[in-house]
Amino acid sequence: MHYALKIRLILVFFLCTHVIPLNASVGPQIIDIDVEQLRKLKLNLPNIDLLGVDFPAGLARLRLSPQELTTLQSMDVDYKLIQKPHQPMFAAQGYLKPDEVIQKLNEAATQHSNLAEYKEIGRTTENRPIGALKITSSAAHHTPKPRVLFNCMHHAREVMTTEVCMDIVEQLLNQYTIHPEVTHWLNNLEVWVVPQVNPDGNARVHQQDLYWRKNTWTRYGHVQGVDLNRNYPEGWNSCNGSSDLFISQTYRGPTPASEPETQAMIDLVASIKPTANISYHSFSEIILFPYGCKGRHNPAKDLFISIAELMQQEIIDDKGQAGTYRLGTAPELLYNADGTDLDFQFKAHHVLAYTIEINSRDNGFHPNYQQWRDLTVRRQRGGWQALLERVSKEAIRVVFTTRSRVYYRLYQQKRGVQVLWDGGNTQAPYQTLAPDGALHLPVEQGNYTLNYYIPTQGIYKFISVPISKNLEDWLVIHTND
Ligand SMILES: [Zn+2]
Repeated sequence: MHYALKIRLILVFFLCTHVIPLNASVGPQIIDIDVEQLRKLKLNLPNIDLLGVDFPAGLARLRLSPQELTTLQSMDVDYKLIQKPHQPMFAAQGYLKPDEVIQKLNEAATQHSNLAEYKEIGRTTENRPIGALKITSSAAHHTPKPRVLFNCMHHAREVMTTEVCMDIVEQLLNQYTIHPEVTHWLNNLEVWVVPQVNPDGNARVHQQDLYWRKNTWTRYGHVQGVDLNRNYPEGWNSCNGSSDLFISQTYRGPTPASEPETQAMIDLVASIKPTANISYHSFSEIILFPYGCKGRHNPAKDLFISIAELMQQEIIDDKGQAGTYRLGTAPELLYNADGTDLDFQFKAHHVLAYTIEINSRDNGFHPNYQQWRDLTVRRQRGGWQALLERVSKEAIRVVFTTRSRVYYRLYQQKRGVQVLWDGGNTQAPYQTLAPDGALHLPVEQGNYTLNYYIPTQGIYKFISVPISKNLEDWLVIHTND
């Protein structure tokens, strides 16, 4: 054996026996820090895994690699060690797995064929179906029907969120004709529920990694994963609100909308044009709305806040109290997040899109199923029901009879003339209508002007539009086809 090779082998042996066992024995650690330190920490540790926050206690919970912990220790930041490695706080036992979700959705569609229809909206990296349920009364023929979307589990470890979506399905289907409000909603609205945006990641949570967050995007045979809620094309990689490192929990993906799960949601939103949306996440007990980047102007922010307050009043937190969820944008409450579904839905389609982060720091991602599952979903009902109720009240409701493509822009006269529903997009402010010709936007009191354009008919008009009080009351604009 050559001398140099011998040295190299000794070196390899040395590294193997000393470095690798050390790494293997020290895994990620969970700590709490002062929430005010979060932004400071993000500067030095841009890829930290923020699990959630506890605003009443003023704490943020993080999961750090040994290297990150060493960096943290050198930064003179106070922290409290919560969990030693390899000691999961709770298991995901009891929570639904991907195949069980699909089975339950299909059963619901079969048992309530007058109300529910199963739709596969896409396939994942591992070819799992991404299932959705469309829920509306087929007996009632009020048209058009505005749509509301509820989606859960962009992030795999947030197992309680799927339970909330499944509870929405059960409540709507079982309470139709029993509960007058549910009957009214399903006669006049179309509700879409996607209980698991990220079934591949969730399978991994159940099989091997309780803290897996991303999908299972694979590179050179290794599962790396993309954070689906940093992969949307709107503002992708625009404000340091995601990572370009594969290992990061907020890895944004190689290109905007690179992931099939993201693409499935983009296609769904574009095809149904929902009036409003809730994306359920966990944990933190907060309600978020666009935009995810600091300094980015949301022209409809007052409206977002007023509707968030309605939900806030009805949601009950893990301590049993109502009205405690914090409201704000990601940079207001935490820090920048770019490429999120909220920003995409609002800017591209004018959706009143919210994120609700359920459960507290005490419960984390995997609350004990027996103790917390039913309690949590029951305590969330007031939130999504408040949204359906608000969508049913004051709104601009216009429907065009034409089959041609209609483009619109809505202005609110407020302190002079102000464009309200452009999503802040001055480059391409015109939006296309829903496939059924409906424009449905819950708005604040005020004077509104609709500017619409039908290219095939050469029509370009400004009209003043009233605010309708209820879902049966539409301004019909007849146009010849
Ligand atoms: Zn999440």
